[in-house]
Amino acid sequence: MRGNTYVVSARRRPIVAIDGPAGAGKSTVARRLADALAFILVDTGAMYRAVALATGRAGILWSDAPRLAAFAEELVAERALSFERDPDPLVGVRVRVRGEDVSEAIRTPHMAQGASTVSAHGAVRAVLLELQRVAGRAGGVVLEGRDIGTVVFPDAEVKFFLTASAEIRATRRHAELAAKGETATLSETLRDVQRRDAQDEGRAIAPLKRAESAVLIDSTDLSFEQTVACMLEHVRAAESAR
Ligand code: C5P
Repeated sequence: MRGNTYVVSARRRPIVAIDGPAGAGKSTVARRLADALAFILVDTGAMYRAVALATGRAGILWSDAPRLAAFAEELVAERALSFERDPDPLVGVRVRVRGEDVSEAIRTPHMAQGASTVSAHGAVRAVLLELQRVAGRAGGVVLEGRDIGTVVFPDAEVKFFLTASAEIRATRRHAELAAKGETATLSETLRDVQRRDAQDEGRAIAPLKRAESAVLIDSTDLSFEQTVACMLEHVRAAESAR
């Protein structure tokens, strides 16, 4: 302590950032980690998907950055977007737009592509960035997305970059879609995954990339349980080092 100034630890519990390409298993792993740690779960992809859905329904083109951003800002100002943890492990986060449950409607390949398109606009990202920072800043939170460790919380105590081969990611995503009755073939799913990765990695603002300090986890040859165990070990080590 010096004079009347003193430092208060900003966060009691850490922020855990999970980034990585499409279909790497971030959502399922993030859910399990959040449950095991009793942390809040923030699915930032769901935010971009909700904006893609709502703007599409409002007849706004996904290429029209100023209108997209204005609409997204309106939704946030009205508190019209809500994200609530759902006990059903298949749902993860229940998403509502103006009270309507859109949890299923946002999980289609079309909305995945829409989210990727709207998220390339800096003005849209700026609106959702605020929402993400408010949701996570107190700590005790697992956030998953593409730019959590690089842009949203570059000071996160624990950062992961979770990946797997494109073939494995497409196979997992295809199984998920098939379980929901979607009829896309495996090769279509692989093409979608690769196109979305290229778009997310190639954009000018907040591209998908591994933060320097992120732990790289390649789950190609790991089971879900092994992946979660490895990540939990990192989080617990970071917590006990504080
Ligand atoms: O993770 P999910 O597949 O739901 O993300 C949908 C899309 O939202 C991604 O392909 C990406 O373009 C965008 N996104 C993003 N930044 C985040 C999370 C998602 O640009 N933090």
